[in-house]
Parts: sequence; structure tokens; C-alpha cells
Amino acid sequence: GAVRIQRALLSVSDKRGIVDFARGLAELGVEIVSTGGTAAALQEAGLDVRAIDDFTGFPEIMDGRVKTLHPRLYAGLLAVRSNAEHLAQADEQQIEFVDLVCVNLYPFERTAARRGVSEAEVIENIDIGGPTMLRAAAKNHAFAAVVVKPESYDAVLEELRDAGGTLSMPTRESLAAEAFAYTARYDTAIARWFAEKNEDFPPLFIRAFEKVVDLPYGENPHQRGAFYAQVGTRMNVLSQVKQHHGKQISYNNILDLDSARALVREYEVPACAIVKHNNPCGAALGASAQEAYERAFACDPMSAYGGVIALNRRVDRATAQRLHEQFIEVLIAPGYDDDALEVLTQKQNIRILEDQERRLPVLGEPEIRQVTGGLLVQDRDSGRDERDGMEVVTARRPSEDEWSDLLFAWRVSRHVKSNAIVLARGLATVGIGAGQMSRVDSVRLSVEKAQVPDLKGAALASDAFFPFADGPELAIRAGVTAVIQPGGSVRDAEVVAAADEAGVAMVFTKRRHFRH
Ligand code: 5GP
Repeated sequence: GAVRIQRALLSVSDKRGIVDFARGLAELGVEIVSTGGTAAALQEAGLDVRAIDDFTGFPEIMDGRVKTLHPRLYAGLLAVRSNAEHLAQADEQQIEFVDLVCVNLYPFERTAARRGVSEAEVIENIDIGGPTMLRAAAKNHAFAAVVVKPESYDAVLEELRDAGGTLSMPTRESLAAEAFAYTARYDTAIARWFAEKNEDFPPLFIRAFEKVVDLPYGENPHQRGAFYAQVGTRMNVLSQVKQHHGKQISYNNILDLDSARALVREYEVPACAIVKHNNPCGAALGASAQEAYERAFACDPMSAYGGVIALNRRVDRATAQRLHEQFIEVLIAPGYDDDALEVLTQKQNIRILEDQERRLPVLGEPEIRQVTGGLLVQDRDSGRDERDGMEVVTARRPSEDEWSDLLFAWRVSRHVKSNAIVLARGLATVGIGAGQMSRVDSVRLSVEKAQVPDLKGAALASDAFFPFADGPELAIRAGVTAVIQPGGSVRDAEVVAAADEAGVAMVFTKRRHFRH
């Protein structure tokens, strides 16, 4: 049933809203007990406060390490008030009950994130008494209430006023759940701080996630969807992303956005990627954002309809006008000229996002995927494949132009679902075969996709080795003159022979880029 709130203990590091909350409680006749800094803030505001050392009969000592840790408080918080024996023991020890605890903790995460902070200071910001009070009151929510968020103060006061100074069971239960989520998050951040000192995959239980936003739905309308961020991580797919225009971002948008951004982040020069169903249908470099976009779009204009487009350069009016000609689901770029936004916002449905992230993504952050009853964890497929470590295996060596297209196609290929085949010419994709169950089918698709009637001089990248010569033969017949692939098949000799016979240059990377 409802619990009458007669005594409250307030001990908060974040003192936002605490004066108004305490005043509201005092007006309802609640006795306020408080620790050093909190008591001072309340007294300064003219409120009557009982000091914690008066309540416990024990001083706050050791620089605040021991303020509230006292059996008199814990007996007052944990007593089962329907239990005659507990009541008799409380009576015997002259225990005073505490009906409400309002605590927020030492700012551990903020302190740990501070540049140049000392280890000693981080350690000092591990709160001990706070979580203990929260856990005690939350455990005993049958008889006590616990408040952790300044955002809850008003609602709690309102219920107290409406219900004659009492709080209902459902309210106390939901407050208790909030308190345990809060302490769990707190300990996660601490464990993470310790774990970041070693290079190994840290234990997964400390990789807790926390909901950032409910999405309209999941991959399909009958599935619920939400975005969760890793607790304590420096950046996530939506951090530093400002939405200028359009509907709320969706589940599928976020997936595609992540892929499109990862692709253009590979390049310092202007680059554009157009993603559909988590595969690029066009990617290109150019002298400007406009040129990169136009060339990426030219790869597969039909598939680009309704795509997610990422650019790594500011969008000007001329580029905006070209973009405006197409149906675009999501556009992300590091900035927009005012007159560019004017053009783009004429369409209702386009989501226009600004990428304000200037830091590099966190390396060493593993990639996690769910399988039934568990998780697969791996290092990210990051790092750059350089020409140095590669080997030309054919009689003819690639020309310099072929080399640049080979490396471009190779770097794009790791952003394409396996089996991935990427055809490129002049630093733009001209055909992409993605997600096929046989490599030769991916080659066939990439060639069919190519808008150009003749692929003469195009470069081909394959994310894994060719198991047979049929794939390269198909591409060579279509005009491809240079091929890049990991090598390592038992039939490598046949594959290289097919290239040599046609005077085609072939490069082995000795590294594979599966993406499933
Ligand atoms: P105040 O500013 O009132 O002096 O301190 C409030 C902070 O102290 C709160 O964040 C609370 O969680 C924390 N706190 C309360 N009791 C103890 C304790 O016994 N030990 C430690 N380390 N922190 C405490």
C-alpha cells in the first residue's frame, strides 16, 4: 500500500533542483536529514536541516569517505516494518526510520573523462555511501522511497501533495528500478575505467548499453525498435549528429547511415557514398562534393532512389540543387551553406543531418553481433591496406591509373556485403555486386549494373579470393583490365593464368575483407 513520508535523507552531488525539492518536502511536514555539502546548500536557502552526524551520532570523517555509513541509518532504511521482531529491535536500539532517500552520486564518469585528471582523483570519485543508501532504500521499497533523478523531483512532490503525504507502491517500485539501473550504470563505468588499462577484450558485462531513443519501429513496422548506446563510450552513431530537417531517423536509416559514414571517412579528399539496404550502390571521389556525388550517383541511379547519402564535405547550393533532383531518405554532411539548406528543405521527407563529429572513431572498440543466446565479438575490420604489402602476380603490372582504381575499389569492397565485387574507373564505382551466395554471381551482377556499355580499363576488387577462374573470366570479357583480390585459393594458378592470357594485371592483397 501507500507509504507515508515523514523523514527524508538528502545527499546529492548534483545539487540542481534540490532546494525546491527539500522546500516542497518541508512544506509537507517531512523532516530533512542531510550530509555536509547538501545541508549547507539547503541551510543557505533558509531551510531547517538536521545534520547526518546528529542522526547517526557519528561525525562525517576521512574527507567524506565516511559520512552516512552507519548502522543507525541502515537499520532505519532496511527494517521490515510489518515484522514484529524488526520493530522490537528498532525500538530497543532507538532507531529512527527513514522513509525517503534522495541521492545522486559523485560524478565518476565526468571526472574520469576529464583531460589530465589524476588517478587519485578518479578513485576519490568512487562513491561508497551513496550507492549503499540507494540500494538499501530500493531493496526496501515496500516501506521506503528512493529518488535518483532531479527530473523526478516534481512528480514525486506532486504525488505527495495529491495523496496526503504518501507515495504509492507502483511509484516506489518504479523509483527502485531507476535506482538499481543507476547504480548498475555507475559500477559499469568504474569497471570500464579499470578495464581500459588492458588491451584484451574487457569482460562483456561491463559493456552495458543504455537506451538513447525509441525509434518509430524496428526493421519492419511490426517490430519495436530503439537505439542504445554503450555506457561510457566516447561516441556513437548519433552523437554529434544534428538533424536540420525531416522525420525522425529510423532503425534502417541508422544502419545505412553508419555504413555510409564509415565509407566516406576513409578519405581525406571529397568523397560520397550512397547506401541502400546497408550496401553502397555508388561511391566516388571527386574534386568537389558535387563531383563526388554526381559520380557516385551515376554508378546505379535506379538503386540510389531513396538512398542514404554521406558526404565528407560541406554542401553548397550547387550540390544541393543536384541532390534536390533525387528522392533521398537521409543526407549527412559535415555542414550546409544556408542557401543549400533552403533548396534541400523544400522537400518534406528528406532527413538532413549534420555530422559535427570531428574526432576519429574509437579504435579498439570491438564489434558485437547477436546470435541466439549469445554474442559474437571481434576486432573491427579497420586499418588501411597499403600498396606496399601487396603483390603483383601477373606478367603485366598495373599502370598507375589502374593502381589507384584498384586501391579505391579494394577499400570500397570492405564496405560491401560478401560476396563483394566492386568495379571502379576513375576513382568512382561503376558496378557493385553485393551479398550474393556465389562469387561469380556477384561478378555477373556488377557487370550488369555497370551503366557503361564497355568496361574497358575498369578495375575489379573482390573481397575474398576467386575459387575458380570463371569470375575473373567473366569480368575480363566485359573489359576489366586489372583485378585485386586476396589470393590464397588452391586454384590461384588457374586464376592467374586466365588473367595472363588476357594481358590483365592482377594484385594479391593477402588480406580478406569479408563482411556478412
Ligand atoms: P555532500 O555534498 O552532501 O557533502 O555529499 C553528497 C555526496 O556524498 C552524494 O553524492 C552522496 O552519494 C555521497 N555520500 C553520502 N554518504 C557517503 C559516504 O558515506 N561515503 C562516500 N564516499 N560518499 C557518500
